Amino acid sequence: MTDPINLTIDNQTVQAAPGSTILQVARSLGIEIPTICVHEATQPNALCRTCVVEVEGMRVLAAACVAQVSEGMIVHTRSERVERSRKTILEMLAASVDLSEAPAIQTMMAAYQVDASRFPQAARRNPPIMDDNPMYIRDYEKCVLCWRCVQVCAQDAQYTYAINFSGRGFETQIATFFDKPLPLSTCVFCGQCIGVCPTNALKPRREWLLEQGLSSEAIAAMTQSERRKHRKE
Ligand code: SF4
Repeated sequence: MTDPINLTIDNQTVQAAPGSTILQVARSLGIEIPTICVHEATQPNALCRTCVVEVEGMRVLAAACVAQVSEGMIVHTRSERVERSRKTILEMLAASVDLSEAPAIQTMMAAYQVDASRFPQAARRNPPIMDDNPMYIRDYEKCVLCWRCVQVCAQDAQYTYAINFSGRGFETQIATFFDKPLPLSTCVFCGQCIGVCPTNALKPRREWLLEQGLSSEAIAAMTQSERRKHRKE
């Protein structure tokens, strides 16, 4: 049996199994570290960087969701540098993405006293809503590029590989291959992507149509005819 690893997190000494991440060990101690891209159904990928922590002796902040513990490690999860970094990440997100339907991120922003107007000159991401199938809409104005939807669509759950990153830099977006409409992709409309999306960028089409003021009857008639149309193609 491999020896446990001894480390210190926020002045608490702890033993952890080799291979554990800082996030896992911190949470086992009841230490809360914020995350956006981490979900229990998906592999951590260090994309959002809100889980950064300070490790003594390391030049840069470490992403706690993927950084593994090591012998003698001393970790600070709430140092001034960590808090400033998390706050700035949230302020940059608030400047460019519509977070109005992301309650967990809003709670995080309140906890970190985020100034949502800190970057008034920032360009906002505002692509049009994608309404190309009877099952759900994609509103990438609300997308924080956490990658959860891509992961559950791929090897973390469904093995369908209908979506992935597309574009570079500011133009990066989740998309189907060659930007085909979803019915022409490998999507099987399992809905798992909607289940893991933290911002409501992905939403059941029925819910979205109700929000637009349509009646249940009008929606039922519309989606039935659309389903028939898609079956003929
Ligand atoms: S659509 Fe939702 S789950 Fe997918 S990357 Fe964007 S925010 Fe994350």
